[in-house]
Amino acid sequence: MPFTKTKYFVLTIGCQMNTYDSSLYEKILQQYGFTPVSRMQNADLVIINTCAVRDRSVQKAASAIGRVCQWKRSKDQVLLCVVGCASDLLSKLSHHNEIDYIHGALNSTLVDPSFSDFLESHNFHTTQPPQEKLPLANQQPLSTYIPIIFGCDSFCTYCIVPYVRGREKSRPVQDIVDDIQVSQQQGSKEIILLGQNVNCYGKDFTPSISFSSLLETVASMENIQRLDFLTSHPREFDKSVLDVVQNHASIVKRFHFPVQHGDYEILRRMRRGYTAEEYIEKISWIRSYFPYASITTDIIVGFPGETEEAFQNTLSLLKKVQFDTVFGAVYSPRPKTKAATYDHQIPLSIGKKRLNLLLETQKEITKKNLQRFLHQTKRVFVLNATAEKAIGKTWEDRLVQFTFPQECSLYAGDIVQVHIDCVQDFTLKGCMVV
Ligand code: SAM
Ligand code: SF4
Repeated sequence: MPFTKTKYFVLTIGCQMNTYDSSLYEKILQQYGFTPVSRMQNADLVIINTCAVRDRSVQKAASAIGRVCQWKRSKDQVLLCVVGCASDLLSKLSHHNEIDYIHGALNSTLVDPSFSDFLESHNFHTTQPPQEKLPLANQQPLSTYIPIIFGCDSFCTYCIVPYVRGREKSRPVQDIVDDIQVSQQQGSKEIILLGQNVNCYGKDFTPSISFSSLLETVASMENIQRLDFLTSHPREFDKSVLDVVQNHASIVKRFHFPVQHGDYEILRRMRRGYTAEEYIEKISWIRSYFPYASITTDIIVGFPGETEEAFQNTLSLLKKVQFDTVFGAVYSPRPKTKAATYDHQIPLSIGKKRLNLLLETQKEITKKNLQRFLHQTKRVFVLNATAEKAIGKTWEDRLVQFTFPQECSLYAGDIVQVHIDCVQDFTLKGCMVV
């Protein structure tokens, strides 16, 4: 019997690139007449967009698949689609017969044509050509993710991304500019350029183009109010990017700059391509350009061979750099990666203890760092506003709760000046300056 019901739900696990990929699937579903629902249980078609970076995220997807399979047995006509980085790993699970559509991570701005074939095979039809260029980068009108480079060629020894997302492939500048213009027409106020390593942008073109020249082009477009980019790789990061950031008030002064570790030998075995000293040198460049900038990072603890002394080197790097935010994770051995074959794997219990210590140490640094905003007036991008209170983020990407005069009407996407009166836990609080 053909499927007639058209409610869909997408569960996205993982990074911003997955959020972007999910939006491409949503766009196709909407072209086929589907509408979104807010609860998975109410959907007739469920997409689980998976992440393979750590085992924990794979398990999260596995349990969501298990839940949908249970409904499938008790309720008629639910289509289950499993896509993204962990789809290959998950296809080997016991539920694989109940998965109706399976596909790996996307490495372009188009969903694979097999997805439309799958929908057609279930008697769904569209009046629009399903493979036409998809300008809408995501469904949130306020902020839009725009991928600039797909895949990754770095092959850090712990990381599965190059195996599941493929080799680096930069997008032509004009395609990026076109996408941004369309998202602006659709009301987007913030553009976030995405890549596993944005600093490798354009190296695959002949002649090559640098990331800083792309950033300059985008920042010089009309009506760019807030421009952000992720992720900078410390190995390729150079001062030309800082020069562009300096020339454009619209560009966010928050550098996500993943260090991964603070120990010479571990960084070498991770194949990151820099030492802790070289990393710290680049931090000093950032701070010399932007003394107020936020610097955030990713750190892995419990990497194979991490001695107590090596872990202490990470803690001392934390204290030296004084990051604003640290995203910490216990090392998770991933299939196909070199580090999974290394000797001296560290027991999970030790990894967890080290992670707690790392996060506890960072908590104090994060709190202390926020004090630098106290009694300052900051430009704030409004995220949400109710009758009396609003929440927004500064150009250093710090959250601010603030009050504003009753006679002002504030909307998400507005840009206002806020005086910071106090710092409470991890949030800045203040009042709008009129
Ligand atoms: N391309 C970015 C970079 O070079 O830093 C990071 C992308 S990766 C998807 C996001 C983060 O996941 C990494 O920065 C790393 O800290 C973490 N990660 C990757 N593989 C991991 C693993 N096997 N175990 C634990 N964390 C991992
Ligand atoms: Fe993974 Fe390294 Fe590529 Fe980042 S740069 S995605 S950590 S392989």
